[in-house]
Parts: sequence; structure tokens; C-alpha cells
Amino acid sequence: MNSRPTLACPTDEAPSAADRIAACGLRVTDSRVQMLLAMERQTAPMTVEDLMRHLMTSGQSFSLGTVYRVLSDLANAGLLIRQWIDGVAGPRAIYLARANPAHVAPHRLICRLCRSELQFFSRDLKASITQSLGKDPLGSANDSLDILYCCPKCAEPA
Ligand SMILES: [Zn+2]
Repeated sequence: MNSRPTLACPTDEAPSAADRIAACGLRVTDSRVQMLLAMERQTAPMTVEDLMRHLMTSGQSFSLGTVYRVLSDLANAGLLIRQWIDGVAGPRAIYLARANPAHVAPHRLICRLCRSELQFFSRDLKASITQSLGKDPLGSANDSLDILYCCPKCAEPA
């Protein structure tokens, strides 16, 4: 543990990863801190396998089971956003850090009839809204957008 370089905190006021983990009521462990920091450096959602590969290339090795468990703990605590995507072998979880301002919050498509929801990530949605309107109605808010639509099921003629 002593061999690991101290991670510089990018901003003075930001609470450390350990503080944020503790604030969620989780026990602060080395693996939770390392994985939360690793996730916060990502600009795209990652699967468990993606993170595991990433940790290995940066010299940290955790078992797949540990990565699964820690990501799940961090998501349940609200520090990561978990989303399910269709994979070859069924739905797979992808994770995204919530605290990183470089990240875009998941937007939602909500059917105005059956209220079914689809979450999606898009870096470009807000930029295209700003471009279409010729002004930026959203400011620097990093909130997710809820878009009302009529889902294909509800749109089908009875
Ligand atoms: Zn619907």
C-alpha cells in the first residue's frame, strides 16, 4: 500500500473519495477508493470487465469478483450510476461515476402514455439543443433531461 503514489486532489474543496464513500455509509476500503477514483477518471461508461482491464494496465490487480462487488456497492450507495445494456449474453451493467462533472448525466426518454422509461447517455444532446435554439437554455447544469415521447408499443395501431 505504501508503494502507491499519493493521488493529487484536483480541487481543494472537493471531498476526497474516501470522504464521499464514508458519507454514503460505506466502510472505506482501499479497493473502493481505487475503483471510485478510476471510474471518476473515465469519460465513458464502463463495464466490470472494462474497469478490470483498466486497473490491470495501471498496475492494480483486483479479482473480477472484487470489481463486481465494489462497483455494485458504489452504485447502490449512489456514487456510480448503473445502467443495463443489451449484451450478447443478456443484459450487462455499465457504470459511470456520478461526481465527475465531465460526465453527462443519463437522460430519459419517457413514454407519455405508458410511462416506460429508457435511460441513455449523450454528450451531444445539450450541445445540439443549444445549437438549434441559438442560445444555451441549460447553462452549466449537468442535470439529466427528461424527454416525453410516444413509445413504439403505444404508437402501434391497436
Ligand atoms: Zn408507451
